[in-house]
Formats: sequence, C-alpha cells, structure tokens
Amino acid sequence: MSIDRVILFVGPPGSGKGTLSQKCVQELDWDKISTGDLCRQHIENQTEIGKSIDFAIKSGKLVSDGIVSQMVFEWFRDNENDSRVVILDGYPRTVSQAKTLDNLAETLGDSAEIIIAKFVIDDQAIVDRLENRYICKNKECQRVYSLKASSVLAPKKDMTCDNCDTELIKRKDDNSDAILERLKVYHLHENDLLSHCQKAGYEIREFESNLPIDQLFVKFKENMGE
Ligand code: AMP
Repeated sequence: MSIDRVILFVGPPGSGKGTLSQKCVQELDWDKISTGDLCRQHIENQTEIGKSIDFAIKSGKLVSDGIVSQMVFEWFRDNENDSRVVILDGYPRTVSQAKTLDNLAETLGDSAEIIIAKFVIDDQAIVDRLENRYICKNKECQRVYSLKASSVLAPKKDMTCDNCDTELIKRKDDNSDAILERLKVYHLHENDLLSHCQKAGYEIREFESNLPIDQLFVKFKENMGE
C-alpha cells in the first residue's frame, strides 16, 4: 500500500462530508471509506452486524466503537490499493476510535501523513439541510438533492436523479428527532476528539462548509495543494 495521506473528515451530520468526499473520489481519483455507508450496507444486506446496529442508526445514536473500528481495519486490510490519498468520512467520531486510529497510523508508517479536515456549519443550517435532503437510491451514484423550494440542489424531474434517472429516497435518520440526536451526539464528542487528535500530532485544517459544494471543493483542493 502506498498511501501518502489519510484525511479524516470531522464535522456534524449534514456538513457536506459525504458529498465532498464523493467529489474527491470522482475528480481527484482519491479513495474513501465512509463508516456510515458501511453500516447502511450491513443493514441492507441484513447481516448479523446490520441487525444489531439498525436501531442505533435509525435513532441517530452511535454504533459501538468496536464494530466501526473493525470495519475500518478490514477495509485497509482488504483494499491493497495505490491511491495516494484516502479519506475517512465520519471516522473517528470518539476518542476511543481515535486511539484505535493511532494504531492504524503506526501500521501505515511515517510516510503517511494524517490530516484532520474539520467542517464547521451552524446547527440551524444543518437541520434545514437534512430535513430537505433526498439521495439517489443508486449505490453507484448517491447524488444528494434538496427539495427545499428554489434550492440549486433541486432535481430537474420530481423525485428522480438528474444523473442516472433513479428514484430519490430519504435516509431513515434524516427525520427531526434523529437529526437532533445526531447533532447532540456530535457536539458531545467533538472537543475531546479534536484535542486527542491534536495531542497525537495530527494537523487540523478548518473549513467553513455553509457553501455550495463546488465552492467548498475549490477551497478544499487549494488548501490540500491539489
Ligand atoms: P453518517 O453516514 O456518517 O452520517 O453516519 C450515519 C450513522 O452511522 C451515524 O449516525 C451512526 O449511527 C453510524 N456511524 C457512522 N460512522 C460511525 C462512527 N465512526 N462511530 C459510530 N457510529 C457511526
């Protein structure tokens, strides 16, 4: 494996982590692991893990540290790839996960730089975004839309993806109760997580993410020297 950089995407739900990482994969040929996607895959495939985490995901709570850390380790074990840069989208989310990541960093060696990209956006903007968010059902696409009146992210055809013509769906945890819970959980862990990462020597770069995705992508690329 010849990874130069691992970029940890840390930010509240709805801060654009998923959409930005998807753009990096498509346009920069980077690789990404989304622990949220891996969890949803387990649920869809009705695996034992999927059955055990279904309730936590629906209600906006965290899945156990052991389960998600295992997923990340298995990904690195099974994906012997040559991507220069790998994004971890939504991992680590707790200090315990960050400690596990420190071990992974050791196995990657000194040549792999670890950077935290921290995304900042206020809670009201998040609630607004997530309540109106719909996603293309096609796993290969997963383009994100907003059904908010006059949004630039509105689909051209009602409830249909502009890109692949597939039906749009709502995530089970994009409802008011789960959104508030996810925000609460994020804020509960944010400071401890970031101070652990700082002590571990990982550089933290901050991005204002209340921007259209194309603008955020430009700023992000510039900042990362791409
Ligand atoms: P996301 O797609 O990143 O918004 O994650 C959706 C849900 O998956 C979260 O609300 C958690 O229930 C679960 N999840 C994803 N990543 C993690 C993680 N690193 N630790 C614990 N739970 C996670």
